[in-house]
Amino acid sequence: MIFDMKTPLIKSSKLSELNNCNVWLKMESSQSTGSFKQRSIGNACQKYVEQGAIKFISSSGGNAGISVAYMGKVLNIPVTVVVPKTTSQRAIDLMLSEGAEVIVHGDSWVDANELALSFVNDHAVYIHPFDHQYLWDGVAEIVDEVIAEGIRPTAVVLSVGGGSLISGISQGLQKHHLDIPIYAIETVGTASLNTSIQLGEHVTLDQVTGIATTLAAKKVCEQAFRVSQNNDVRGLTVSDGETVRACLKFLDDHRTLVEPACGATLSVLYDQKIAFTETDDVLVIVCGGASITFDQLSKYTVELSV
Ligand SMILES: *Cc1c(COP(=O)(O)O)cnc(C)c1O
Repeated sequence: MIFDMKTPLIKSSKLSELNNCNVWLKMESSQSTGSFKQRSIGNACQKYVEQGAIKFISSSGGNAGISVAYMGKVLNIPVTVVVPKTTSQRAIDLMLSEGAEVIVHGDSWVDANELALSFVNDHAVYIHPFDHQYLWDGVAEIVDEVIAEGIRPTAVVLSVGGGSLISGISQGLQKHHLDIPIYAIETVGTASLNTSIQLGEHVTLDQVTGIATTLAAKKVCEQAFRVSQNNDVRGLTVSDGETVRACLKFLDDHRTLVEPACGATLSVLYDQKIAFTETDDVLVIVCGGASITFDQLSKYTVELSV
């Protein structure tokens, strides 16, 4: 492997004690680009290069775009990322620092994505942020690593945006014959999967709101919806304030700064929203996120009166 993808598996004393079980943190925040996207996007980029790609195109202003930019640098492939005007300067700077060309275009992701797609041809490949088998294959390796360390989880807790994380984890669990509950966490303003679970149909939200922009997909991918219908997937939503509180606590307890998208998952453990038992080994995917600074987290704290 030309980029390090193996992440630490840490037993959290604090969260284990709080939840009266064994809480195992899979630290995807330790990836080179700060999130699990390094696995999903990393695997897709490698596969496409093997198939002859000579350019990568992305329209993600978040962690997916940052990982595509990084992979371009590692694989020596030019990258163009088209992002909407709403994209944070920090995300743009991170992509530029990996050597990617960044084009700021349009007021929304739909506009940026349209321009990005116009650049695609037989050799310039579009890297989808969450909806492709190659992405899920990369994510599934998280479960392989946990099993290799001798832990057989009895439940998984993870965040859901467009649904590549839950799709890949579910695939990994199946491979190891682990038929266990998956807790799918979203914020109230980004609850596309939770709403679909409740209604029993694959819905598109009219709008997505709040600070967890990394989770802001109006509709999850078909595979994620299918996973929710065919497995023991239990949805939970949390408030933006709860995500920020969890980010702050996690910073103190584990000295790691994560995005609200990840704080969402951590908050259900800090706030003891799930009843676990002493024999449970709970796998928590610390999905990470690069679009956060201590300064930004402090601003959220003030804005949301946390
Ligand atoms: C992409 C991402 C998510 C959401 O993952 P999906 O595969 O889109 O559901 C959550 N947290 C972080 C930090 C991410 O980068």
